[in-house]
Amino acid sequence: MARRAIICGGSIGGLFCAAFLRQAGWQTIVLERSRNELSGRGAGIVTHDLLVNLIAKTGASISDLGVQVQDRIAFDLEGDRVATLPLPQIVTSWDRVHSLLRALVPAGDYLLDKAVARYIDDRADGVTLVCEDGSQHHGDLLIGADGFRSALRGQMLPDVQPQYSGYVVWRCLAHEADLPDDLRDQVFDSFGFFLPQGTQILGYPIAGPLNDLRFGHRRYNFVWYAPVDGAELADMLTDATGYQHSITIPPPLVRDDVLERMQQFARSHLAKPFLDILARSERPFFTPIYDHLSPVFARGQVALAGDAACVARPHVGMGVTKAASDAEALARHLSNTAIPLALQSYNKERQTASALAFDTGRRLGSYIFAAPAFGQNLDGRNNPNLARIMAETAVVPAVSD
Ligand SMILES: Cc1cc2nc3c(=O)[nH]c(=O)nc-3n(C[C@H](O)[C@H](O)[C@H](O)COP(=O)(O)OP(=O)(O)OC[C@H]3O[C@@H](n4cnc5c(N)ncnc54)[C@H](O)[C@@H]3O)c2cc1C
Repeated sequence: MARRAIICGGSIGGLFCAAFLRQAGWQTIVLERSRNELSGRGAGIVTHDLLVNLIAKTGASISDLGVQVQDRIAFDLEGDRVATLPLPQIVTSWDRVHSLLRALVPAGDYLLDKAVARYIDDRADGVTLVCEDGSQHHGDLLIGADGFRSALRGQMLPDVQPQYSGYVVWRCLAHEADLPDDLRDQVFDSFGFFLPQGTQILGYPIAGPLNDLRFGHRRYNFVWYAPVDGAELADMLTDATGYQHSITIPPPLVRDDVLERMQQFARSHLAKPFLDILARSERPFFTPIYDHLSPVFARGQVALAGDAACVARPHVGMGVTKAASDAEALARHLSNTAIPLALQSYNKERQTASALAFDTGRRLGSYIFAAPAFGQNLDGRNNPNLARIMAETAVVPAVSD
């Protein structure tokens, strides 16, 4: 009889696990807390060959995956180009990857409105998952793909807590049709950077709604890392009713005066192309940047995958690739050997690889706070780490000496 895996979390990590385990002959059931089908609010995802190959390996189509950029460019404050690095990449969107994987899971095997509360892993014949609605699900293996605030990790490794980085990321998204021709020509074919002291900004084109890749129908997405101390963050996480959200705040609840403060700062500190895009952006929203690395990725008959196991800061552009690699490795080890040994091998392979992404994310993030080479670097022309940031952001980190 087919072995059965229960997957907690129906986002990209959970769906990759379902796809690869089904290929390996497992029965899978995905339990997702959200009441509605998930959507990524247009968030862009930079792809690597590794990710494209893993998507193809699930059986999903990789045609029309996203927008091709040819190179990376850095602007100064006025919008003049100060550096160019040839580096072709396809930039896709969270929604595109999610919908490709979602289509691989039969309807009855993906349950919405199932918030997982805890698990019982003391039975020789499997593991039982208990949902907040009281329902129970039994399987041979449980996978926690329930994101960076994972309930399953909370039970398995209560001491592992996300660490605040000291900065947030503002995300802006503008429709190509809303940009003047000269601005579109300036930004649309490249991955763009602005790297003054005290901040990092990078932007790139992504598909329009419903994966529309046609000229004139695409969107431009930029992310702006901005230092925010603990007191200011607490204020930014407080909504108009005075309620202070923990960790993050739903975008529609970000107060107007918080947005206005950001816009004011942008007017004097943002490179002109990004400022012009901000002026035409949908309502921007921010996410505080956290990271964490679990010391083990499996215990008993429970495995952690994706952001539940490790979040590397997004500079490294590895979240989706990491989740896909976790899922592929898990299914591969489970195909070769019995569950306890397979989970040991999975832990060894993926904890080590994730630690590398985690360290690289921290290093790239630390450049936000690095002093300029000489004088000031408010115009983005004098960043001692410019070449490194341009070359290493959103690139799979390679093991080095
Ligand atoms: C600004 C920013 C930029 C990024 N850029 C990139 C990029 O360029 N490239 C890239 O690869 N990655 C990027 N990422 C990271 C990427 O989005 C994530 O790493 C990736 O989506 C992880 O997927 P996941 O399925 O592990 O976790 P999540 O997407 O967090 O999914 C967890 C799921 O579990 C569900 N869940 C939670 N708790 C429960 C529960 N108790 N019961 C049931 N379900 C539950 C949640 O509803 C959610 O659907 C970026 C992230 C940020 C913040």
